[in-house]
Amino acid sequence: MTHMTPSGLTTTDVQIAIVGAGFSGLGAAIKLAQNGFTDYVVLDRGADFGGTWRDNTYPGAACDVPSNLYSYSFAPNPAWSRTYSHQAEIHRYINEVANRHDIAAHTRFRTEVLDARWNEEQLQWLIDIETDGVRTQIRAAILIGGVGPLCEPNLPDIDGIESFGGAIVHSARWDHDYDYAGKRIAVIGTGASAIQIVPEVAKIAGHLDVYQRTAPWIIPRAERPYTTVEHLAFRYLPGYGGTAVQGQHRTRDLRRGVAPRRHPRVPRRMQAHPQVQRVVPGARPRQRRTRHQSDRVGHTARHRHR
Ligand SMILES: Cc1cc2nc3c(=O)[nH]c(=O)nc-3n(C[C@H](O)[C@H](O)[C@H](O)COP(=O)(O)OP(=O)(O)OC[C@H]3O[C@@H](n4cnc5c(N)ncnc54)[C@H](O)[C@@H]3O)c2cc1C
Repeated sequence: MTHMTPSGLTTTDVQIAIVGAGFSGLGAAIKLAQNGFTDYVVLDRGADFGGTWRDNTYPGAACDVPSNLYSYSFAPNPAWSRTYSHQAEIHRYINEVANRHDIAAHTRFRTEVLDARWNEEQLQWLIDIETDGVRTQIRAAILIGGVGPLCEPNLPDIDGIESFGGAIVHSARWDHDYDYAGKRIAVIGTGASAIQIVPEVAKIAGHLDVYQRTAPWIIPRAERPYTTVEHLAFRYLPGYGGTAVQGQHRTRDLRRGVAPRRHPRVPRRMQAHPQVQRVVPGARPRQRRTRHQSDRVGHTARHRHR
């Protein structure tokens, strides 16, 4: 039902409003639909489903949990092409699942949620939204947040970054028009995204520096295409894609000497370091940097760019 608020905003009443059309929001919408709820709306500022997998298009973007496990339990995908699928394939999977359940019919894309407040008298959420520059309101009894923890790009707080003369690109908003070939490039960070970006950028950069404040735990990823036999097993052996892949994943980690996380009898320092020594013989953990030292790393990055 649609009506006008006293302040002139068009208001639409729904039972349930879901913010976000990534894995979380879409999953919530599908489960609501499967349980007989029809009066819900999904709100997302983007132009299609996918969230993280729509926005992160940097070179090398892929999942770091095996694809068979990084899928909806109710929508296994026997066609995953690789052990760790790339962004485009995951984005496609999410949109296919959304289409299968007809969630687009309940979704408002290019719609930003500006504010949401609980009204005690009406026992409703009042949700201010903006679609293509037009502000309206949604009133809902239930509000589900699926906005994700990583959807806002986080730029490092480096002293003087605003006066840096070169291009600044965040992994979550990759600039595909910029010509990276032959450039002097610095990657700040060595987390999950940098680990994927660095090998790709290294192929074309004129010079590449990588800045690390805190060393992450790393293990070999064993990334490869799935074989025909595996594809057949995913399709025809119920549970193979979930249980068996999870088992292989764990066994592989144990064989490689990676202790189970949080194992009480294994010191944390031993858990992944042998892998570093295998890849980089003689490698030792560097001394820990203090906050002050890490700020200096930021300065170094800036000077090198000039
Ligand atoms: C590069 C990368 C790789 C990753 N790999 C893995 C992995 O291998 N395994 C793993 O478990 N996790 C991984 N993650 C974490 C990943 O974010 C989550 O697994 C999952 O995709 C989060 O889904 P979500 O729906 O909760 O959030 P998101 O995918 O972030 O979706 C949130 C949605 O909310 C929308 N939104 C936010 N605010 C508003 C607003 N105010 N108004 C309207 N819409 C709004 C956004 O547009 C977005 O579409 C990875 C993350 C990144 C960035």
